[in-house]
Amino acid sequence: MSNLVSDVAVIGAGVVGTAVARELARRGYSVNIIEAGNDVGTGTSKANTAILHTGFDATPNTNESRLVRQGHDLLLEYATVTGIAIEQTNALMVAWNDDQLSQLNAVAEKSLQNGHRDFLQIDASKVARLEPHLADNALGGLLISGEYIIDPWSVPIAFARDASSFGAVFRFKSQVLSIDVGNEVTTINTSSGLVKTHFVVNAAGLAGAKIDEMFTGNRFTVTPRRGELIVFDKFARTLVSHIILPVPQKHTKGVLLTPTVFGNLMVGPTADDVEDLTATGSTQDGVARVLAAAHRIIPALRNEEITAVYAGLRAATEESDYRLFTEQQCRYICLGGIRSTGLSASMALANEACQRLIDCGLQISTQSVKVSTLKMPPLGEMQHRPADDGQACVCMCERVTATEITNACNEPIGANNLDGVRRRTRALNGKCQGFYCLANVCELVSRANAIPVDDLLSGKS
Ligand SMILES: Cc1cc2nc3c(=O)[nH]c(=O)nc-3n(C[C@H](O)[C@H](O)[C@H](O)COP(=O)(O)OP(=O)(O)OC[C@H]3O[C@@H](n4cnc5c(N)ncnc54)[C@H](O)[C@@H]3O)c2cc1C
Repeated sequence: MSNLVSDVAVIGAGVVGTAVARELARRGYSVNIIEAGNDVGTGTSKANTAILHTGFDATPNTNESRLVRQGHDLLLEYATVTGIAIEQTNALMVAWNDDQLSQLNAVAEKSLQNGHRDFLQIDASKVARLEPHLADNALGGLLISGEYIIDPWSVPIAFARDASSFGAVFRFKSQVLSIDVGNEVTTINTSSGLVKTHFVVNAAGLAGAKIDEMFTGNRFTVTPRRGELIVFDKFARTLVSHIILPVPQKHTKGVLLTPTVFGNLMVGPTADDVEDLTATGSTQDGVARVLAAAHRIIPALRNEEITAVYAGLRAATEESDYRLFTEQQCRYICLGGIRSTGLSASMALANEACQRLIDCGLQISTQSVKVSTLKMPPLGEMQHRPADDGQACVCMCERVTATEITNACNEPIGANNLDGVRRRTRALNGKCQGFYCLANVCELVSRANAIPVDDLLSGKS
């Protein structure tokens, strides 16, 4: 156990926890980040639809609508400055029947209430002109500007690298087991030892309610809402230009089609409530439903190959809005129920957490705010990548060089396992899913981390 008492401990190193840690460390606070997994972004943050939302369709006057709107602008600027792949595709919400067509006015009204005026209602012929591969029974649509696609994996990694460079300490493989709130110091009992801190931020995603209960008793429940997705091969990317949205349903934004910054086309997610907080496997039924929707919306997708399927779990609770709580007495902030929009809202949630901590008694920092000089490696299909300069590739499908893989292991908050390399370089993520390159990638990761190849392959590392 370290005798040092940090200003703040952040529980969870997903996109929200890393954003909070970065913001606090930037402002000069000492921060411990306690993460059960072996890397940043191994929870819900690794499996989403990778859209930077404007929040046009959020429920007005909620925390979510306010924070997504603020977070959109903050992350757009951050991604641009740090070189995280991001592209403005805008979104097209398509009405497929009269009922949906009549709902577009209400969606437009909601967008205005959310302060997003940049949309246009268009007729069927304009929809067909903008997206010629859509099925021909679209009746009209709403064209929403300001929606972006982004590299979702680099975001928490960049936040973590910044946080680390500003002095934050990451404690991986440290699951929080219990918490003892003292008069001035809170002791967090983790699977790797005790952590002492003055203030705590709960950013534990799916386990948010469990951590919250350690402070306040049973206040909300997380019921994981599984979203299954299909990633189509790069040849399918030319079939859509915009994010194609359905008219929203009660539980979910519905199945959408979106280009990815890596040059694929993605379809999903489903929305099925499950009991198991670890049920991130794809199911036959879920994949079949996504595929049926994909074929219905873009018939030409019947001829396209699928590269991968995956699923993520939204931290859904009894209420659709975020569950943000401030407990001054125990110097504790809860950032719970960050369900479907946490990537977009992450940087605004970080500012929100800082303000709430100050309201709770955290002294306003007198230090000057540190400035990031971070540059993330170019991973987007539209970015200039090392392979474009003729460097030999280890992963042919995603055009990843040996240097990129070795750098990904050696950089701060580096990769020490195959999934970490996948998220930092795109290696193993392509059409062959590692069939051709796995041995060479393993060799490079093994050498950089001094980990036996067998341990990498068995997931022990
Ligand atoms: C299918 C799907 C699509 C989505 N699409 C989008 C999108 O397009 N745009 C968007 O903005 N958002 C989207 N989201 C939402 C977004 O992904 C989430 O809101 C966001 O990732 C939540 O981040 P988080 O940091 O709160 O949680 P997580 O990423 O889950 O992080 C929580 C961390 O806490 C750790 N933890 C848990 N318990 C403990 C413990 N006891 N001790 C220590 N550590 C612990 C976990 O290991 C985990 O790493 C989508 C979500 C899903 C599921």
